[in-house]
Amino acid sequence: MNKIKFSKKEIKFHLGLHLLIAVFITIASYVHLPFGSLKGNLVYFIHFLLLHFSLFGYIYIFSLLHKIFKIVFPILFIIASTFSFWVYTQDLTIGLGTIQGIFGTNVGEATDVFSFQFILFVIFSSLSILWFFKTYYKFQKSSIKSPLFIVSILGVLTFFVVENYKFDAFKNRLPYSIYFSAVKYFKKPNIKLRGVKEEVFTKEDNLHIILVVGESVRADHLSLNGYERETTPLLSQQKNLISFGKLYTPYTFTAQSLPQILTDKSIDNRQKNLEVTSLYSVLNKASFQTEWIGNQTLEKSYKGIIYSNKTEVIIDKFHSFLSFKKEKDLALLKYFSADDSFTGNKLTSLHMIGSHWYYNSRIDSSFYKFKPVIASKYLGSLKKEELINSYDNTIVYLDYFLNEVIEKLKRSSKKTILIYISDHGETLGEDGKWLHAQEHNASKNPAMLVWYSNNFKDNYPLKINQLLSKKTDSITTDFLFHSILDISNVKNYQYLKVQSIFN
Ligand SMILES: [Zn+2]
Repeated sequence: MNKIKFSKKEIKFHLGLHLLIAVFITIASYVHLPFGSLKGNLVYFIHFLLLHFSLFGYIYIFSLLHKIFKIVFPILFIIASTFSFWVYTQDLTIGLGTIQGIFGTNVGEATDVFSFQFILFVIFSSLSILWFFKTYYKFQKSSIKSPLFIVSILGVLTFFVVENYKFDAFKNRLPYSIYFSAVKYFKKPNIKLRGVKEEVFTKEDNLHIILVVGESVRADHLSLNGYERETTPLLSQQKNLISFGKLYTPYTFTAQSLPQILTDKSIDNRQKNLEVTSLYSVLNKASFQTEWIGNQTLEKSYKGIIYSNKTEVIIDKFHSFLSFKKEKDLALLKYFSADDSFTGNKLTSLHMIGSHWYYNSRIDSSFYKFKPVIASKYLGSLKKEELINSYDNTIVYLDYFLNEVIEKLKRSSKKTILIYISDHGETLGEDGKWLHAQEHNASKNPAMLVWYSNNFKDNYPLKINQLLSKKTDSITTDFLFHSILDISNVKNYQYLKVQSIFN
């Protein structure tokens, strides 16, 4: 029997190749991470090695197709390295937003594509891979008989084991992120939007509704709701502000919760390929101006709903929550004015990045009210206290943000009303679980607030009475669609008035 023999040359080829991949592609996904402690460093180093081991698996199997591999691999390498340049230099998120940018040929918006450094980087990476293939390709003797083939199978398995252990652990990183965001781009969303055929109208006038869609803010961390720490000092001073502490949603991540909150879909309806009606479509029919100003890259599941606004602005759309260089929410206010020169009625939606992990990236350090804060993205190296401090600091920022919006609205002559609703809550160590997208009740009680102007109150005293009487009620996120249609006083459209908090 032949002894299993590793070919040194073959190993050399793959090691060299991975060195190039590391330098020109994968390291970009790690350089912006706050590692924090030694433990954080170590964990991410292991993460990096496992990522390469899994890549080795795929590359080795690909290299079995010798001729195709020889031509196609350098092309893929060069493509991936162009993405990597943007990740290195701008911490750009390679996700749906970037892919949309590329297919929509407006990638120029994303980045200074043809900067001198970019061209230099791509030339350098191209020359490196071409030189490497020219010099060492002869070492590449991939065969299913080689013991490296067995190792490559283990590499591929590693990918699935790690992804199973921690969702998106590899998928969000280069080069996998390119492939998986392209897949997302071509996938169909699983809800369909129904057009509004009814001749909806309203006799309402001079109404300006501001809907602030928050992110990962749980009700019980607002001092307005009795939290022992002072997280909402400014809002606590505001008159005409009501906090609803008992809001429920079963959905624990944005992609699931927004399609429900912004449409007539009920939380009880788990049907797939459901036809739903966008809140904005109904209001457009009633001649409302509808505008969306967002600080989150749109996900497939709710993109269509956002595009049913008459206008939409997404700020900083090529940086997702994964980026450490993402714009903070106060930047949204550059695009928002309480301008009261419009005629008719208006619904403005502001979509925040809010309290999305990694908390420190969401706020300026001047908002670090509670210390010490987190210093690593690796949860295992963080203390519970640090995590909660950092999370609570994002609530302090929210307090400031909403207060700014309210102060702007006070200067408007319109009947203004602001509804703030977070898309879901956040798990903060309950049963050892952290962050959102966890099936835990701690993430199912999002924060919700309503603020109304004196003008609004004077015009609708009964509605305000109803609102006040319901503030301790247990409600679900179903309320939003029906409540907004109720205050908009739309006619000739069926909605559930019983769901309205103003009824
Ligand atoms: Zn969310």
